[in-house]
Amino acid sequence: MSSSVEEIKERLNIEDVIGSYIKLERAGSSLKARCPFHNEKTPSFFVSKDRGSYYCFGCGAKGDIFTFVENFESIDFLGALKILADRAGIVLERFEFKTTDKKERLYILLEAATIFLQNNLSGEEIPLCYLKKRGLTDTTIKEWRIGYVREEWRSISDYLKKKGFTENEIERAGITKL
Ligand code: ZN
Repeated sequence: MSSSVEEIKERLNIEDVIGSYIKLERAGSSLKARCPFHNEKTPSFFVSKDRGSYYCFGCGAKGDIFTFVENFESIDFLGALKILADRAGIVLERFEFKTTDKKERLYILLEAATIFLQNNLSGEEIPLCYLKKRGLTDTTIKEWRIGYVREEWRSISDYLKKKGFTENEIERAGITKL
């Protein structure tokens, strides 16, 4: 059985999902729009139905229906998952903590960890300054989802435990070492 994420992707078409947020125009085999993630007058945001992905030539925003909903609504992966599952008519039943598929749980764990570390970075002057000095732009930082581990390194495993993951899973995902 494919995972819920895959199932949602199979059931929903990217044109309908993104089209419900912004106005899409036909452009050859793809669709275009004015990018919702940066300010522009002429469309450089392209949606490919075949690939199920979007890409903006202006700001480099890219991804699939999940990242689109996450970024557009400023919510985390699980929030987007819930919205899209609803739309696809898939019942998740507190899916994030109850799914028994081990691999899928690790995937969700890593997503939660990424968001946590990304949030850690925002507003942190020292690491942001360091990244800028290394030549990274805001777009690159966002696109590559760069995060920051604070000195109290335990905070991430505490956070994940609160989210319902076990110590063993956190270790298997490579976040901590025994
Ligand atoms: Zn853009």
